[in-house]
Amino acid sequence: MSIAVICTGTELLKGGCCNTNMQLLGAKLTSKAIYPVMELSIGDHADELYFALSCALKSADTLIISGGLGPTADDITLHTVAKFFGVKTIEVAELKEKVKNCWAARHNSHCPKFQYKQAMIVEGGKYFDNPAGVASGIGFDIQYGGKLRHIYLLPGPPAEFETVLNNGILDEIADICGNQLYTNGFLVCGTGEVMVAKTIEPLFRNLPLEIAYTATPGGTKLFLSGKDKLLVDAAVNQARTVIGNHALDAGCFDLPTAIIKTLAARNMSFGTAESCTGGMVADSIVSVSGASAVFRGGIVSYANEVKHDLLNVPQEVLQNYGAVSSQCAEAMALGACKSLNCRCSVSTTGIAGPDGGTPEKPVGLVYVGACIDGLTAVKELHLRGNRKMIRERAVAGALQLLWELLNMPENNIC
Ligand code: ATP
Repeated sequence: MSIAVICTGTELLKGGCCNTNMQLLGAKLTSKAIYPVMELSIGDHADELYFALSCALKSADTLIISGGLGPTADDITLHTVAKFFGVKTIEVAELKEKVKNCWAARHNSHCPKFQYKQAMIVEGGKYFDNPAGVASGIGFDIQYGGKLRHIYLLPGPPAEFETVLNNGILDEIADICGNQLYTNGFLVCGTGEVMVAKTIEPLFRNLPLEIAYTATPGGTKLFLSGKDKLLVDAAVNQARTVIGNHALDAGCFDLPTAIIKTLAARNMSFGTAESCTGGMVADSIVSVSGASAVFRGGIVSYANEVKHDLLNVPQEVLQNYGAVSSQCAEAMALGACKSLNCRCSVSTTGIAGPDGGTPEKPVGLVYVGACIDGLTAVKELHLRGNRKMIRERAVAGALQLLWELLNMPENNIC
């Protein structure tokens, strides 16, 4: 069984929004060892959907279609899909009741007729509940081109898409398409794809495993896939052992998560002192649920006075070496521990550009610091890219430095 995805929405093509539905779906399907053969993004036009359907059905038996289930005239998915397959649409009494109640709760007036478009499904099909919104998910099976096809329509708004996907559709697809490849992996932090490939590929040359890499600012995500789950898991463990401290736990692809887990296990509090990253390190930490167990806070110290006043960076350091210096990064990390009353910290200071560079201190020069119980480490980074990329890479560099420090044998303290 093979799967294709069609995402409808003119905004997807015009850069109005990122296709996060596909990102989420890809991750969810991967977790079930299912890999779509293609994804097509199209505008809200019937002819484009017709074309996408005929294209996708050439290589897939199961179609997942996102978006276009709203009540307005540009929401054409159900009608177009029904017409394409030559099936009727019918109104479902329970869904009509839901549409009416949702309208009443929001508008305190009589529900207009066009809203009941969201109470329709394909004749012979079924619906999947959407507690996050009005439009339900819709599923139906149909013969097409001499084969049985499974078609699923989901609402486009990401929260609704996820809710409906989790409300039966994902499990049903896993049943239909099961027995595919199983994938496991981890993040190799601070290491590029080529280095990871050089280390990993000789290990598994003669085994029935697929190896895939994704480069990120924080390192390389390594994925191993195969039909035999035990073999894949054993290979992942072997790869982690060979890679050593740069390998996160199996199944972990996120350094902030790994850091929080490690700090929590060691009962260590954490804080940040940021200049060029302006709070992005703190944001990456707070994005992880459970961060409050370790994270005390962060100081965004952009101006020199703030570095001095809030982080105790000595005036001599600022005058003699400048704010972008290893000495300043170190003082910021120490200052964060003191001011935020925490045992460990990271700091960032650098030139994110595009202006502000000099021959001695060019754009992309960033110092990151880390401190654990008074022990400090500083790294000088020469980062490439635009302002956003330099700042993202600085965040990754700071967290990697902390990770390295946390994994030094003498720091495996409780
Ligand atoms: P409704 O029209 O009731 O909001 P719908 O099912 O018709 O629901 P769309 O109109 O296709 O959904 O999309 C609604 C909004 O959801 C879009 O404007 C966009 O912001 C977001 N959205 C749609 N598709 C995606 C997608 N693939 N990834 C991320 N966001 C999306």
